[in-house]
Amino acid sequence: MPRPSRFHIDLEALTHNFNELSRLAGSRRKMAVVKANAYGHGAVACAQRLEAFVDAFAVAITEEAIELREAGINSPVLVLQGPHSAEDVSAIARYKLWPAISNYHQLKWCHKLTHNLDQVWLKVDTGMHRLGFDINEVAETQAKLHNLGVKNITLMSHLADAEDVNSMLTQRQTSRWSDLLGITTGTVEIDQGASFSNSASTIGAVSPPESWVRLGYSLYGGSLISLPPELTLKPVMNFTSEVAAIRWIESGETVGYGGRWVAKRRSRIATIPVGYGDGYPRAAADGTPIGTPYGTVPLAGKVSMDMITADVTDMPDIEFGTKVTLWGDTPSMDEVATYCGTIGYELCTRITERTPRSFSR
Ligand SMILES: *Cc1c(COP(=O)(O)O)cnc(C)c1O
Repeated sequence: MPRPSRFHIDLEALTHNFNELSRLAGSRRKMAVVKANAYGHGAVACAQRLEAFVDAFAVAITEEAIELREAGINSPVLVLQGPHSAEDVSAIARYKLWPAISNYHQLKWCHKLTHNLDQVWLKVDTGMHRLGFDINEVAETQAKLHNLGVKNITLMSHLADAEDVNSMLTQRQTSRWSDLLGITTGTVEIDQGASFSNSASTIGAVSPPESWVRLGYSLYGGSLISLPPELTLKPVMNFTSEVAAIRWIESGETVGYGGRWVAKRRSRIATIPVGYGDGYPRAAADGTPIGTPYGTVPLAGKVSMDMITADVTDMPDIEFGTKVTLWGDTPSMDEVATYCGTIGYELCTRITERTPRSFSR
């Protein structure tokens, strides 16, 4: 008898979200970011589902791109970190991938193979200060790539605080970005290719000049910012299980490791067979909502490797076998994340192999 815990991946919700976001992106081309196994959702299944709609995919590293190619994905695939070695460039050329180049080491590795590179993305540091050429190095680097025979060069940069349109950081980055496009193209002429937006910037009001958006987390139904009324996103991942044990404990008794949760009254405790060994975060605080058909119930006690416990005293209908949702429709991944001191991005990318994923088309 298998354990009743599952990650259900709703591929219909994925296309729904893509269509919704496409509307916001308007005439900009759409790149679906499927790095880290499509944020834990299953890169091959998600890419196969989206391939007919997207203009390109993006992954972080070459290995992830090769996995897509070997599964038959033929669309362009951008490797956001670019090559990590000269051999990596050979693989990028062989699999017809798009490298993002962000430093002179990568540029040097590309030298011999540029005729095999269909398109190169040039990563510019506008203020994130992780990767990218300085703004004053861009024109020279573009010229070098052109001399090496690269025809298509798309400029890209990444926002550090896209959730906050008004932050100094966002304003500084967007003004540098606009200057850059002015400097390198003479006018704000972005047909050559320019990409600044991630999910939050596409959904929010940053509106930078660009010809591509790079959509990641929002495709999977999550968001770090509140959605405009005309946009509905559906959760792609539903993490579910069932109540596997129920007991009454007396007031003053505690639940779980370290006795963190203390019963203030005679309490009914439900045990659910998922834990941090499945990706349910150990950081989850008492009170983290768990969905049931009767409403949400609070997590009670520390998360174990294989189990969690909930206070179901106020929900007498909950019994052995009652279905629960750890995250998905209710509560959302974003909501659970706030009880764990993290963001939903981390919850979905940290799910483990132990719990099966099932895909609904
Ligand atoms: C991951 C990533 C994205 C997608 O970000 P979301 O917030 O998930 O939409 C876009 N651009 C770069 C460079 C990234 O690394």
